[in-house]
Amino acid sequence: MQTHYVETKIMDIKTLHNKALDGSPLTLQEGVFLYTNSTAQELFSLANRIRFKLNPAQKVSWQIDRNVNYTNICISGCLFCNFHCTISQSDKGYTATKDEYREKIAELRMMGGDQILLQGGLHPNYDITFYEQLFTDIKSIDPELKLNALGPPEVAHIARISKISIEETLRRLIAAGLTSLPGAGAEILSDRVRKVLSPAKPNSAKWVEVMKCAHRLGLGSTATMVYGHIETLEERIGHLVTIREIQDCKPKEAPGFRAFICWPMQTEDTKLAQMFSITPLSAVEHLKMVAISRIMLNNIPHIQASWLTIGPELGKIALHCGADDMGSIMIEENVVSSAGADYRRNKEEMQKMITDAGFEPWLRNQDYSPR
Ligand code: SF4
Repeated sequence: MQTHYVETKIMDIKTLHNKALDGSPLTLQEGVFLYTNSTAQELFSLANRIRFKLNPAQKVSWQIDRNVNYTNICISGCLFCNFHCTISQSDKGYTATKDEYREKIAELRMMGGDQILLQGGLHPNYDITFYEQLFTDIKSIDPELKLNALGPPEVAHIARISKISIEETLRRLIAAGLTSLPGAGAEILSDRVRKVLSPAKPNSAKWVEVMKCAHRLGLGSTATMVYGHIETLEERIGHLVTIREIQDCKPKEAPGFRAFICWPMQTEDTKLAQMFSITPLSAVEHLKMVAISRIMLNNIPHIQASWLTIGPELGKIALHCGADDMGSIMIEENVVSSAGADYRRNKEEMQKMITDAGFEPWLRNQDYSPR
C-alpha cells in the first residue's frame, strides 16, 4: 500500500477516543491519525465500546440468503474480476433462465431463506425493460421474496443505456420488486483508484449519486469497501468519510445504509495481481479496518464481519473489534470465490461460529428486524 503524507496537527489520542465514544464524527485527518498512532488493541477496544453503545445486547445477527448472478457478461473489465466475460465469448457467457431461478428459489426456501442477492455485470444490451421483466418473473415465482439486487454501477449503467434518469431507473426497479440496493461496486471511492482498477465502471460521483437517490426514495441499502490493493490509507479513511456523508444526507425516516461491510480484495489469478505486486494484508490489518470502520461510521447502525472472504476464525475475532453482524450463509457466491476466497458454512455452523465467539446468534431479516 502506498502511503501519502497527511498534514496533522498534534492530536491527542485520548481526546479522539472520547470524541468517537460521544458519537461525534472524526475528520479524515483524525481518522488517519488515530489509525496510525493507536495500537491495534486500542483500536479494537474503542470500536468494541462503540459497538456496545450502539448495539448493547451480547448478540450477533445473521441471515440466510442466496446469491444469484443473473449474467456474467460485463463491459467493465475490472482488473480484479475473474468472473466476467465479454459478449463475444459465447462459450463462457450466460444469462440465468426462469427455470434456474425457480430451482434456486425453491432451494433457498427449503433452507429457510427469504432473500436473494441478485448481481451480475454491466451487460451491453440489457436496458431497464430487461430488469423490469426479470424482477417481475422472480416475483411471479415467489411474491414474498426479498430482492436485494444490483448496485450503484449497474443502476447508473442501466440508466445510461436506457436513456433515462437515475431516479426513473430506481423508481421503475422498485415498482418491479426491488426491495434493497446492495452497496456493490464501491471498492474504494477514489477516482484515482477506480481509473486503474475499473476504468469502464461508473465513477465515484455516480456511485454517490445513485445511493443518495435510493435513500431519498426510501430504499434501504448497505455500504461496502474493498481494500488491500493500490489504495492509500488516506483513500480508505476518505472512503469511510464519504459513506458517512451520504448517510448524513438521507431523509430522517429513510433506512439509508443499514450496515457497512469491508473486506480485503481477493486477487488470485487476476489481471490486477499480474500487473501490480500486491502484498496480502495481515489478519491484524483487516481487524484494524473493521475497527476503524466502526469508529468512523458513527451514523451507520451495523458493521458486518465479512467472514466469507476472511474466513470464520478471523470473522469470530472481528466480532470483538466492532462488528455486530455475521452476514449471511450466502448460498452460491461466485465472484469473490472465483478470485481466491471460498468459505462456506451451513446454518448450524454459522450459529456455532457466533456462539464460539461468545455471543448469542439471532436470525434477522433484510431490515435487521428479528425473524
Ligand atoms: S466486478 Fe462486476 S463490474 Fe467488474 S468486471 Fe466483474 S462483473 Fe463486471
